[in-house]
Amino acid sequence: MINDQIRQLATRPDSKGPFVSLYIDTMRNDEAQKDRIRLFLKNETGRLRETIGENGNGLEDAIRQIERYVDDSLEPDTRGLAIFAAPTEHFFSPMQLPIAVRPELAIGNRPHIRQLAELRQAHPAAALAMVDAKSARLFLVNFGRIEFEVDLENPDMPRRHDQGGWSQANIQRHAQENIDRHHQKVADALARIVDQGRTRGGVILSGQERNVANFRGFLPKRVDEKVIGVLHLDMHSGLEDVTTACSALIRGKARGEAMARVATLEGARGAVGFNRVVAALNERRVDSLYFTTRASARGWRCTSCRILGQEVPLGCPACGQHVRSCDLVEALILSAEADGATVNCIEDASTLDRFEGVGAGLRF
Ligand SMILES: [Zn+2]
Repeated sequence: MINDQIRQLATRPDSKGPFVSLYIDTMRNDEAQKDRIRLFLKNETGRLRETIGENGNGLEDAIRQIERYVDDSLEPDTRGLAIFAAPTEHFFSPMQLPIAVRPELAIGNRPHIRQLAELRQAHPAAALAMVDAKSARLFLVNFGRIEFEVDLENPDMPRRHDQGGWSQANIQRHAQENIDRHHQKVADALARIVDQGRTRGGVILSGQERNVANFRGFLPKRVDEKVIGVLHLDMHSGLEDVTTACSALIRGKARGEAMARVATLEGARGAVGFNRVVAALNERRVDSLYFTTRASARGWRCTSCRILGQEVPLGCPACGQHVRSCDLVEALILSAEADGATVNCIEDASTLDRFEGVGAGLRF
């Protein structure tokens, strides 16, 4: 879902009036917190009004709409709120997130989605299957919280009183058949979740070794290949323990993969540094974009042919039209998203630090 929203924002035409991107922390969703949000809006918008002057038409409407939304529509478990609004186009897109965000208010003619991209990267959705011989719990963990849980019981598990007159071997075989049937059912359910395409972070299994090994025998190859780790959580673990254990595993795995790819970007199928990444993006050769949390630069974007650049020219070198100054990292992310490239934020020290903190994997 967040992918669709990011894609929608990235492919929007430039707004004719102001485009507001707002991130606010709603950690404590009470009256005092709402007052703090109002104060933040007042201070930040006051500052912005001074700088944008007459281009602020419609801005007041957007601010009022945001204030109303905060007052009326915040869910109790929302920890961070991102709002994208273009009042002149009657566009208002709020996103209530279960994780905290960095307070940010930006006004331009395009959305600021860097934070969303970073949050999506830090909290990829993953499936967890907890299995034993007679029950199972399936979870979808997203943004560090459990999005849904399915409990599956094995109805055929023999009870003691069913076993009269059976030989020990018969009982054991019958029990194993029941476990297999149960594991097959759980494997099918897990495969359905994975096939919905919402488990970018992978699949996690949990259980006693014997059960997990038996269960894996029933997983289709495409699901088994997505397994990023095995946990040994208690079947009755609380949701908090489940999410903590999963989040650590998912983040560690995602970080490792991104770092491995970053190490290859200096090669023939990669580009590093703003100049080369911008050139590759303008040629629509970028397959994956990487930026560090510290990457930052100003640049420009042509209002007509949409190409990007760093040193602001008098006119677009490609089409001669007007160019507009912009946050270059935000512009790179929007272009990459609009082009269907993956967007990755790198938190750890890497080779990218020597190249202004940006790199790209190339399609050709
Ligand atoms: Zn141009």
